[in-house]
Amino acid sequence: MTTKIQKHVERLVADKDWVDTFVSKFKRRKNGCWEWQGSLDPEGYGRFHVKKHHETGTGRNFFAHRMAYFIYCEGYIEPDELILHQCHNRLCCNPDHFHIGSHDDNMDDLRSSGNIAGTNNPRSKLDEDDVWDILNLYYTGVSPTNEPYSIGDIVSEYEDIDIKRGTISDIIYGRTWKTVYDEYFEVEE
Ligand SMILES: [Zn+2]
Repeated sequence: MTTKIQKHVERLVADKDWVDTFVSKFKRRKNGCWEWQGSLDPEGYGRFHVKKHHETGTGRNFFAHRMAYFIYCEGYIEPDELILHQCHNRLCCNPDHFHIGSHDDNMDDLRSSGNIAGTNNPRSKLDEDDVWDILNLYYTGVSPTNEPYSIGDIVSEYEDIDIKRGTISDIIYGRTWKTVYDEYFEVEE
């Protein structure tokens, strides 16, 4: 049976202009991640509201990475089929970095990457995505110039959450967040 959600998704995916606009919100990282630049949910996943093609015009919310899957992979999948990020980057919309799994798989993934704690209040301290970003800024820089940032540049980038130089240097030399550090260099290679 085709649900209303599925019909909505199918109409969106068939709308080339809409897809182009959606895809233009990805920032393509050197490590292959396509990072969503739009709005986020409290857990740090890309989440956005779409009125276009909605059956009554009020619109509904979608996760950005799931929409990317609907566009690039086999189309719509039910909400109980989770899309997991092999890259552990919640903003990532690159289907090459996805795999399908259950809630249990997701918890196992989080546990094995050592990131189960500390995600309740993402802006109160650094989370996994921030750490990944910091590594990216320091080691590969940002487009369009790909000019790497200094530690000082990164400190000012994160001024709003007041991070100390020592915290940044611990991250970039892998003294803290070792799991993310290791993953980062594994993917980069
Ligand atoms: Zn990715």
